[in-house]
Formats: sequence, C-alpha cells, structure tokens
Amino acid sequence: MVNRKKTAGIVLAVAGVFFARIDVFLQVQRTLQFSLYVLGIMLAFVGIAVYATGMKKKLTRLKACPFCFAPNEVMEKTCKQCRKKLPEMKHPAASGRGIKDF
Ligand SMILES: [Zn+2]
Repeated sequence: MVNRKKTAGIVLAVAGVFFARIDVFLQVQRTLQFSLYVLGIMLAFVGIAVYATGMKKKLTRLKACPFCFAPNEVMEKTCKQCRKKLPEMKHPAASGRGIKDF
C-alpha cells in the first residue's frame, strides 16, 4: 500500500538533508552554505510533518483491542491476537482517540 503523503514526506526530508549537507557534494560560499543549511533543515522538518500526517490517516483506521490492546483493523470482528470479540464501530471517526494514543 503506497501512501502518497508518506512518500512526499520522505522525499522532502531527504531533499532537506541534501540541501543541509550540500557542502559535501559541492563547493559553495560560506554564506550561501548557511542559508542552504537552514533551508534544508526546515525542508526536512516539513517533510517529517507531512510524513506524520500520512501516518495519522493510516492509524485512525485501527482500533485497540479492549482486552489485550493489540491494534486491529476497524473492520475486524475479532482480535487477531487474543481472538476475543471486538466492539462494533459504527463509524471509524466515532471511535474517538483509539490507537492514536500509542
Ligand atoms: Zn485482543
């Protein structure tokens, strides 16, 4: 399963790290290098934030088992770990906090 936001986040973070350490690959002016470093770090942070939003979307589709706290798909009827019956969920968003707290 490909998550677009996660991919975009990784690309941004990698690009940020590349800019931050561009002096390894290229000979650049000291002032320019500092600007690129700041820009790169910011880009990396944005990338991580984008990646995190991609993660969140996936995690909200999980619910924790009330007996063993194992994460299960919202659509699952029984816990994949302890095999106990999971509570029905009318809507994934109605589950409140759920697995996001982990
Ligand atoms: Zn369980």
